[in-house]
Amino acid sequence: MLRRKPKALRGPRRGTTRKPAARGKERPRRAVFLDRDGVLNDLEYNDEEGQIGSPLSVRQLRVAPHAGEAVRKIKELGYLAVLVSNQPGVAKRQLTLAEFARMGVALRRGLAEGGGTLDGEYYCLHHPDALVARYKEDCACRKPKPGLLLRAAREMRVEMEGSFFVGDALADVKAGRAAGCRTILLGHVTSFLAKMIEAEGAEPDYVVHSLREVPELLRSLQ
Ligand SMILES: [Mg+2]
Ligand SMILES: [Zn+2]
Repeated sequence: MLRRKPKALRGPRRGTTRKPAARGKERPRRAVFLDRDGVLNDLEYNDEEGQIGSPLSVRQLRVAPHAGEAVRKIKELGYLAVLVSNQPGVAKRQLTLAEFARMGVALRRGLAEGGGTLDGEYYCLHHPDALVARYKEDCACRKPKPGLLLRAAREMRVEMEGSFFVGDALADVKAGRAAGCRTILLGHVTSFLAKMIEAEGAEPDYVVHSLREVPELLRSLQ
């Protein structure tokens, strides 16, 4: 009986479509950075703040049904999928760190249902008006500042050129622009939003209605 050669000893594969993202050397590593709330999961109505915002418990967390599939397709196109999100809820005592961690588990599980796995998760837990002292900081990582994106790119050895940031807020666009990647805004461009974009100087490179459209957009740009 012939034993197959171990993978490492086999010759280089040619013309296959295996993950280009795993090979760092020939081409620079690219990423699609993804905001969390309003991108990977739905926004929630928050009674306390009287507005739509981040879910604050596992019970409230609803992973968008198409999100896992979108993440999977993004990775099939050769990008790393990296979460980059402001989460000041713990700092504001809106949820515990343990619940925040459980939400991370639920998010990963929800994405896995569509075949999606994140390559990295980066959260800013700070807030300048935090009630919890250890998170009270006017940090460089809270979007619209680019610190968290830059750290993610550095640690994951990703080149900003050729990478994208997908978010549903102008703070995401600003952070992406400041970090030097291209920006994709999820939303509908109303005249109000167009005015805001102009006033804030936060012009996204692309606008799509949903994360579902992002793989198609990326494919069209290749
Ligand atoms: Mg958001
Ligand atoms: Zn921060």
